[in-house]
Amino acid sequence: MTTIDLRRLHIRPGDVREEMLDVELEPFVLGGQRYESSPAVLPVEIRISQASGATVFDMQLEARLTGPCMRCLAFADVNRLVSAREFNDPDAPKADELRSEYVTDDHLDVSAWARDAIALELPEQILCRPECAGLCPVCGKDLNAEPHEHTEREPDPRWAALSELRDQL
Ligand SMILES: [Zn+2]
Ligand SMILES: [Zn+2]
Repeated sequence: MTTIDLRRLHIRPGDVREEMLDVELEPFVLGGQRYESSPAVLPVEIRISQASGATVFDMQLEARLTGPCMRCLAFADVNRLVSAREFNDPDAPKADELRSEYVTDDHLDVSAWARDAIALELPEQILCRPECAGLCPVCGKDLNAEPHEHTEREPDPRWAALSELRDQL
């Protein structure tokens, strides 16, 4: 877990601090599939300033997740530039929006915040390409490589044998 010790910063009104941190991201599980962060350890930039009694945190990161396409299971990846902002006033009442849920005992939990911020930016479906045709629901073949439909029932081999017999008569 990567955290920032806020007491160590001694931040005063008007100060701006920039911290670069390495955050290790566990794979995300979406729709039953695993998506790994690439790289697994992500550089995260946090800007810390002070405004009317509250500490303001601005986070910037660039996430890339890789895993199977949700339609055809081929390789897929998602790239997202993520920015997020949190406020924290230690004197604000609990559950107030000026009390960041990522700050506990003067420590900002950068790992949890980065993970949640990335999750919010992910598309509903992770696809190898926007127009991915997926797998055929009847035979399971990749419809991108082999576009086809099953409109008619496949001829039964027994019927083929029968008509062959008929031809011989
Ligand atoms: Zn696909
Ligand atoms: Zn098919």
